[in-house]
Amino acid sequence: QPDVVDAGAAYTVLPSSSPCTSEERATALADLRFGVTFTDHMARATWTPDAQWHAHRVERFAPLQLSPAASVLHYAQEIFEGLKAYRHSDGSVWSFRPEVNARRFAASARRLAMPELPVADFLGSLTALVETDLEWVPASDGASLYLRPFMIATEPFLGVRPSHVYDYVVIASPVGPYFAHGFQPVSIWVAQDYHRAGPGGTGAAKFGGNYAASLLPQQAAHAHGFDQVCFLDAATGANLEELGGMNVFVVGADGRVSTPALTGSILEGVTRSSILQLLAEDGCDVAETQIPLADLLAGIRSGEVREVFACGTAAVVTPIGRLAGEGFDVTVGDGGPGPVTEGLYRRLTDIQFGRAADQHGWMRQL
Ligand code: PMP
Repeated sequence: QPDVVDAGAAYTVLPSSSPCTSEERATALADLRFGVTFTDHMARATWTPDAQWHAHRVERFAPLQLSPAASVLHYAQEIFEGLKAYRHSDGSVWSFRPEVNARRFAASARRLAMPELPVADFLGSLTALVETDLEWVPASDGASLYLRPFMIATEPFLGVRPSHVYDYVVIASPVGPYFAHGFQPVSIWVAQDYHRAGPGGTGAAKFGGNYAASLLPQQAAHAHGFDQVCFLDAATGANLEELGGMNVFVVGADGRVSTPALTGSILEGVTRSSILQLLAEDGCDVAETQIPLADLLAGIRSGEVREVFACGTAAVVTPIGRLAGEGFDVTVGDGGPGPVTEGLYRRLTDIQFGRAADQHGWMRQL
């Protein structure tokens, strides 16, 4: 479907008291650790039942004023998105398939009984913020500006029902390349005692509570000496779902590539969809299917499975070198990145950073 969107509401840039000096910004841009530094401004809009979405604005990045009774603090009506703005070599700034994030944001809102933000207003908020904080988009190799749109329920009311008032906010954080020193395969601990989402639950929404539920199993993964946790489906406990913040793919020796089907408890990643499309266009045999853990382990042991990788906006594509859980510990291939994983990483980042032609119309100038 074409990614053409009407103009949304105009975001008014409010006068800002004290933006960073260029020296302060240069210091901040020297530290590109993920999610530590924030730009000078934030884009914002407010929803009330009578006015609907209004007061679209860009204002100084500052603490939010919130009643202690605000319903988000009690019943967790909070959804978010994550995408990046990339600076190309001619200085222009682009995002990757932001319409897909906008539609996912609307889908998350529906699941959490929150008002949908029109796609055009979502896109307009990104443009308004990036235009205002343009000098915060890093130009260094592989770096980008991470954009974090989110919506919270702000009505001061303790009854358990959907809030009547919401705030939509976009903040931005300059980030370095995920792999500053080349690909580093991650090790994965498979959670068998905990699930992040269940049938009929909120797993397909980008809802803060899903991430809260993933923290304890993620801690357990760290305690076992592993980088990240992988979840199995809650209904049977037998099938692969996804990591706490990334989707998973499996590459067979026969060239077949598979990823867990969208069962309703998996987040439909923009990177996942893009990879499925690229592979299908290559004529590759790709499948969205059930992946039983037992089959995956057997395949890794026999060599039928050549590569396993995770994908998401932050790292783009991450090789998985080792997979373990209670009673098993296997190394995928030789533990290093495989050619399919590396090829997809290069192709996607080449499009994102403007080094390759954007044949799909995936890039949108901000
Ligand atoms: N699964 C989960 C649970 C995630 O949080 C993310 C990150 N948004 C992904 C998958 C990957 O999604 P995307 O490719 O859109 O970043």
